Amino acid sequence: MNLWRELRWRIVGAQMLVVVVGVTLVLLMAYLGAQFIVPQDIAARAAALAQTGAPQAVDAAALEAATAELLDVFRRSILSAVSVAALGAILAGLLSSFFLAREILRPLRQITASSQRIARGHYDERIPLPGSEELAQVADHFNQMAESLARMEETRVALIGDVSHELRTPLTSLDGYLEGMLDGLFPANEETLAVMYQEVRRLRRLVDDLQTLSRVEAGQIELFLAPFDVRELATRAVAQLAPQATAQELTLQAELPEEALLVHADPDRTSQVLLNLLGNALRYTPENGRILVQVARSGRFAQITVADTGIGISAAALPFIFERFYRQDPSRARASGGSGIGLTIARHLTWAMGGELTAASAGPGQGSTFTFTLPLARGE
Ligand code: ADP
Repeated sequence: MNLWRELRWRIVGAQMLVVVVGVTLVLLMAYLGAQFIVPQDIAARAAALAQTGAPQAVDAAALEAATAELLDVFRRSILSAVSVAALGAILAGLLSSFFLAREILRPLRQITASSQRIARGHYDERIPLPGSEELAQVADHFNQMAESLARMEETRVALIGDVSHELRTPLTSLDGYLEGMLDGLFPANEETLAVMYQEVRRLRRLVDDLQTLSRVEAGQIELFLAPFDVRELATRAVAQLAPQATAQELTLQAELPEEALLVHADPDRTSQVLLNLLGNALRYTPENGRILVQVARSGRFAQITVADTGIGISAAALPFIFERFYRQDPSRARASGGSGIGLTIARHLTWAMGGELTAASAGPGQGSTFTFTLPLARGE
């Protein structure tokens, strides 16, 4: 609080300094005028009168007395005028500086108090906008900062909730199996162990995904950017998943440009994104469906599209599918091993490489199309 008082006195002091300097200068000028200019002026006029030989020309002694008297009157009138003016200026200065100090200090005090409340975890804190435009801008920026802190806190709380929820499912399952085995309800045979192994793998995948997610969101993923042919990469990814597509009785095809299409990106991360999209397409497309991978050039970008004839995405779900842990159909996605963060990671990776990842679907049962772009290599 002492700080504020000090600041207020500094504002008042600055105003008072202006008043004091003003008054001193006026007094100095008046003194100099009375001392040198006015007597010289009177003497010059008297000499001029004497030269004309005018009968009313006065003698020197009388002139000196009259001048002294005149100067005295002049000094006194100047002094009283300056005193009244100084008093007025001091009063006006005091009033305006107190008002100014209040105008400036009140919002500043509010900002200080609010930031202390925010620091204690009250993220709903906002400050009213003051009248002055500049201070209103400061207050507005402060409120925006408070809002984004509140949002971050909300995300953090939701994330902890989501993560514990995701961990609980496989752990509960493992817990049940182990307890059953200990109680002799389940035999410790290959079948039971295989189910438990699945759960452990799911946990492991989740933890790995979470780690990747946190690094990718913090921008800590190291990228090895280099020019490479995106056609080749697509061919490899399709070949890698072809056996799985055949096993699920799905047609997996690629439509590629005739010539090489060089992009400037990280080949491993690009492959990760494409495999993730293909994995989803395989997961969400029922038997006899079709999955098509297309690579094409689009301006200064290469465009890779993964289209399927699967279960599609509703218009209501479409805006959320890139959010962490979002699943259109939680039980189905979880049963098929999805962690719900694959697309979040894929989008962040694409962004990090200077591209974009988007999704489109005509609706449930109408298939989905995922498109991601990557910047073309120099000279393409
Ligand atoms: P998951 O691991 O659950 O698949 P993702 O982040 O990869 O998580 O996907 C999020 C959600 O987006 C999925 O649960 C699913 O609802 C939807 N989705 C993703 N790809 C497709 C697709 N090809 N067809 C239909 N829905 C999809």
